[in-house]
Amino acid sequence: MDQFDLLVVGSGPAGRRGAIQAAKLGKKVLVIEQGKRVGGVSVHTGTIPSKTLRETALNLSGWRERGFYGRAYRVKQEISAEDLRRRLLITLDHEVEVLEHQFARNRVQHIRGKASFVDPQTMQVVKDDGEVVNVKAASILLAVGTKPFRPDYMPFDNKTVLDSDELLDIENLPRSMVVIGAGVIGIEYATIFSALDTQVTLIDPKSTMLDFIDKEIVEDFIYQLRDRNMKLLLGQKAEKVERQNGKVELTLDNGRRITTDMVLFAAGRMGATDTLNLPAAGLEADARGRLSVNPETFATKVPHIFAAGDVVGFPSLASTSMEQGRIAARVAVGAIAKEPPKYFPYGIYAVPEISTCGLSEEEVKERHIPYECGIARFRETSRGHIMGLDTGLLKMIFSLKTRRLLGVHIVGEGATELVHIGQAVLNLKGTVEYFVENTFNYPTLAEAYKIAGLDAWNRMGDIKSEL
Ligand SMILES: Cc1cc2nc3c(=O)[nH]c(=O)nc-3n(C[C@H](O)[C@H](O)[C@H](O)COP(=O)(O)OP(=O)(O)OC[C@H]3O[C@@H](n4cnc5c(N)ncnc54)[C@H](O)[C@@H]3O)c2cc1C
Repeated sequence: MDQFDLLVVGSGPAGRRGAIQAAKLGKKVLVIEQGKRVGGVSVHTGTIPSKTLRETALNLSGWRERGFYGRAYRVKQEISAEDLRRRLLITLDHEVEVLEHQFARNRVQHIRGKASFVDPQTMQVVKDDGEVVNVKAASILLAVGTKPFRPDYMPFDNKTVLDSDELLDIENLPRSMVVIGAGVIGIEYATIFSALDTQVTLIDPKSTMLDFIDKEIVEDFIYQLRDRNMKLLLGQKAEKVERQNGKVELTLDNGRRITTDMVLFAAGRMGATDTLNLPAAGLEADARGRLSVNPETFATKVPHIFAAGDVVGFPSLASTSMEQGRIAARVAVGAIAKEPPKYFPYGIYAVPEISTCGLSEEEVKERHIPYECGIARFRETSRGHIMGLDTGLLKMIFSLKTRRLLGVHIVGEGATELVHIGQAVLNLKGTVEYFVENTFNYPTLAEAYKIAGLDAWNRMGDIKSEL
């Protein structure tokens, strides 16, 4: 039986970053991955596929140009599922190749198989051909991620009623689609398919959505969705879902009936801990399959076993999972792990994009911080005119006392890239003066920062007489 310094279960963002970090510190590391290729949900069914699909949909549909050429503008008239898949396969191949190269370069060993605990230090790996090997390690990092929640009452058939993993393999684009679940995944796919001319209905039992995002941004977003005829049925629940003659019929709790070509069930994901035999390690998961950890070290209650990434819950992002994996691995092998900066960006790759970093206006109010907001619309920038943008909003919140940036919130083209300017200022404790005094490239959408900064500054009053 081989002995390792660190055993990592799962090769998604948390696992691979943790494994490479430990290897860079000179440790002997083994990654166990049950999937056909390394990369995890992020590469194979989550982040990268959905973002590739989005990019293809926006390019082929001519979405970005419609502000200029009108809503009827299309780059390709008939977009097929094959068009979407082609780009996906090429992108995934590149991603996997890069990861395999990183593992090889850093001498991270990896084997394919399903891991489960034999005892707190030993894991059993069942390979595809049935061969079983046992491996031992001083520390173990569980980075097993999540899988779609599939309740019994949903008649999944991998064709007309699907989860978000299965959606990537559809043979034809549906003319109509109901998305159940207005969380990030549901919203992203609902808006991507809507950009592809599918008639989309989004249903959620909650009467609000994206509650962790600044309300003004969400209101702008919802307005844009309704403006392009997406149906939002919030505060309504699908009570019955039945397959009928190649279509799906839904009955809602208010008696309303909807017939659609396809249903995407995107209401939640479960931690992939059910096959780990956790009790053998002295661990247990919660009702949603999640593990609890110390938020600073990512250690579980068994000191040499760590967990990172989606399996530990919010924020469940590839970006934050990587950082968690890195910190967990450093602590696991006895290296110092600096706490990451307080504010991380959250990106929602819907159409349009949303991105946010720091406190929302609602949070600032809850904390009784005196504040002022600055707002810029992309159509106020020259770059926005050139691009034909008639939507897009950037909002910044500043403390009236310290003049420091407290939060930045963006909806519109490039939001997930633009947010990093605000993130840097926020984490470096910058004030409204940064935006007023600095020069921004012209013409850019980033100029919206200057406009929003000036908007806030005008109302906050001057502290520098020369301005
Ligand atoms: C549709 C969708 C879109 C998303 N979009 C974004 C986005 O735009 N930006 C963003 O930051 N995040 C996004 N995410 C979230 C992101 O994919 C996850 O946060 C990230 O993949 C979590 O990484 P992880 O390392 O925790 O686990 P995962 O990526 O889930 O990987 C876990 C791996 O562990 C393996 N595994 C599980 N159990 C075992 C076992 N017993 N033995 C061996 N191997 C095992 C699995 O096969 C899997 O490969 C999206 C997710 C989805 C589903």
